[in-house]
Amino acid sequence: QQSNIPGFTEITQTAPIANNTHGGRAKCLQRLIRLDMPVPKTLALSFDAVHAIAAGDPANTDAMINSFGDALVSVRPSSEDPDWGGPGAILNIGMNTQRHKELTQELGDAAANALYLRFIQAFAVHVARLDPDMFELPDNPTSEALQDMLHAYQDETDAEFPQDPAKQLSDVLRSMARAWEGTTARLLRQAKGAPADAGLGLIVQQMALGVGKGECGSGVIQFADDITGLPRIKGRYLSQSQGRDALTQEKGALYLTHDDRGPSLEDLCPDCFAKLKQYGEISRQRLREEMQIEFTISNNCLHILDAVRIPRRARAAVRIAVALAKDGIISREEALMRIEPRALSELLHHQIDPEGPRDVFQQGIAASPGAASGRIVFSANAAQASQARGEDCILVRRETTPEDVRGMNAAVGVLTAKGGMTSHAAVIARGLGLPCVVGAMGMEVDRRDKIITAEDGRVFKEGDVITIDGTAGQALAGTARMLEPALDGAFRQLMEWADQACDMGIRANADTPADARIARKFNAQGIGLCRTEHMFFEQERLTVMREMIFADTSEDRAEALGQLLPMQREDFVELFGIMQGKPVCIRLLDPPLHEFLPAHREGQRELAEALDLPVSDVTRRVDALREYNPMLGMRGVRLGITVPEIYDMQARAIFEATVIASKNGAPVVPEIMIPLVSATHEVDLVKTRVDAVAAAVRVEQGHDFDYRLGVMVETPRAALRAGDIAQNAAFLSFGTNDLTQMTYGMSRDDAGRFMSNYVQQGVFPEDPFHMLDTEGVGELLTIGAERGRAARKDVVLSICGEHGGNPESIAFCRSAGFDYVSCSPYRVPVARLAAAQLAV
Ligand code: PEP
Ligand code: MG
Repeated sequence: QQSNIPGFTEITQTAPIANNTHGGRAKCLQRLIRLDMPVPKTLALSFDAVHAIAAGDPANTDAMINSFGDALVSVRPSSEDPDWGGPGAILNIGMNTQRHKELTQELGDAAANALYLRFIQAFAVHVARLDPDMFELPDNPTSEALQDMLHAYQDETDAEFPQDPAKQLSDVLRSMARAWEGTTARLLRQAKGAPADAGLGLIVQQMALGVGKGECGSGVIQFADDITGLPRIKGRYLSQSQGRDALTQEKGALYLTHDDRGPSLEDLCPDCFAKLKQYGEISRQRLREEMQIEFTISNNCLHILDAVRIPRRARAAVRIAVALAKDGIISREEALMRIEPRALSELLHHQIDPEGPRDVFQQGIAASPGAASGRIVFSANAAQASQARGEDCILVRRETTPEDVRGMNAAVGVLTAKGGMTSHAAVIARGLGLPCVVGAMGMEVDRRDKIITAEDGRVFKEGDVITIDGTAGQALAGTARMLEPALDGAFRQLMEWADQACDMGIRANADTPADARIARKFNAQGIGLCRTEHMFFEQERLTVMREMIFADTSEDRAEALGQLLPMQREDFVELFGIMQGKPVCIRLLDPPLHEFLPAHREGQRELAEALDLPVSDVTRRVDALREYNPMLGMRGVRLGITVPEIYDMQARAIFEATVIASKNGAPVVPEIMIPLVSATHEVDLVKTRVDAVAAAVRVEQGHDFDYRLGVMVETPRAALRAGDIAQNAAFLSFGTNDLTQMTYGMSRDDAGRFMSNYVQQGVFPEDPFHMLDTEGVGELLTIGAERGRAARKDVVLSICGEHGGNPESIAFCRSAGFDYVSCSPYRVPVARLAAAQLAV
């Protein structure tokens, strides 16, 4: 299928060139040719041809060189996806002593020397693989410099610099073909998503020289900003230059448009500039993309060498896709498909400016995206004090506990030495939209002396300013230049299109009114998980909660619960009000009670004071509640069955709030969810009591209301027995955090210690707390869903673990027939887009 000369194809309007045979660059050049742009003559070598060259087959370079007459040529890589990279371009192939002499006459000394020097340098370093330090390009392309470089080449290789253009070309082709097949290059591109056997095509193109008589030079131009996506002419041009010199050499490079920064390409060559603008518009319309165009001017004549999709940040990607769809150039569906859902989180938070400096002192796990700078604090108290002073702070802890939530609320970022993707700090931070890095292994946190010692040995003390990059999982010394969040019109438009396409519900995990407002802002269709324990961690409530835990008699307990009731009721009234009739799914208390008690001496002393008890009593009670394995201990429904008054109080607060909210506004049908169920009888017991509370509230208030009781499937047994359980459950919500923990028998709080090692060794393909394990945990999900549905056709199925915001996990849930997913408020847009893409 090759053209008349075997091994390569000239790119013409009709040549058989495709992305998957000759690579993206070859295909794009063909498109430019079809659009009548002045592209110099170009040959394309297919993946197969390049592979054969790497294996030692001779390339037909005599024929290639002859087809160009006596012109110089360049070689550039053309992989299937331009993002997979490839070896760097090599220019001016064909330069030798003879051509140098002729070009000296034609273009002058300096130009001819520059052309030859560049080729020798590239050939020496990339083809002959000589030491780059010996072959630096001189500032002035003098004849002496040229002779020096030729001698250096000869000294290093014991051979004259190759003079035969066909031989030069075949050496270049072979070296590029082999570089692509080397291990490093393969690993690099696999990291970018390329398959192991990805092919490389090569492009041989006639040089438009960029140096010589008249206006000559090279440059790059684009018509949209790569960071913001806003329409803008951006690029550089450098007279008497080649390749990407204009971008790499500050000195002498011109901006493109005329403005107060000085002379421009627009002044220098208005014709070329007008044509470039026209080509930009044509490529936008016809290639349906914002392109970056590489061009050369030789003797006032414009040549288009190449065009690539502008490499862009997420916010630019959104604005460009939406603008193209609005202009009718692409469809809305295509605009949706062009955005990587995960990249959206970059728009929702501050980000470190990728072009700014970055002084990283510690690497960890990227637990919650966004970036923030502040002074180091080591305790929740210090964080609150800092907030009161109006000073931003970063809370640094070995790991966080529920006691730290108020500190996290007061901080602008969190850094912990321990923990993984579903550790306490990570889950809370994502809920709060707070940048967070966990599992910063090798970092020592000395709480007493208030210093941290980073893995690289640097020491930071309380009050020192650091920056957390929760997107990259890094901690940086000092402040950093930031980009603002970009929740602008383009973002909102994209989200609106996503909602129109999406056929699956997206709810938010929201515990507080603040969370609920964010959930509404991001258009969540309801709350899929309200973890009520988070309502008890405010200081005033915590004290009452602790009184309840310390109660010796049921009267004392009732008294404390009586104080908690109105607080809970108010919380729910507010939550229902914010959600305006949208479903709100409230989980009854889940954590083991010891989590509400102070773990350290100091806190226990304070508590003794508050409760007017001897410290020894407090310590004794804390010890009595201590469990060997609290995550498998007295928590969830087990607590609800052994201390039923707590769930009674919560049910009452929910129902009373339902009555109040329904009188104020839209009717509310609360959903109540029982955590950590493993036996159907647990559900029966709780249901009986909750029904009784509902009946009592209806009578007391003289107001009727509905509610729905459901079960969290978080234990393997609950998934297996989902058929029985569904008899008494209107919905099943899969808590995949606990379900993953229990399926693997692997602590979600401790797995961070070995997770990266496990992933590195390929034991797990991914952290299963981050990416749903579709084989094991997924099978339990499928079994639970099937058995639940079979027993009760209208049972609503959902997932509310951290996986609910993960595009791959959403795809799994959709194909398993789930009704909705629920995730942290800040991941709602990601989930909406991911679900929309599945439906398109
Ligand atoms: C879960 O286990 O998946 C869940 C949503 O509950 P939590 O994370 O609060 O244990
Ligand atoms: Mg759970």
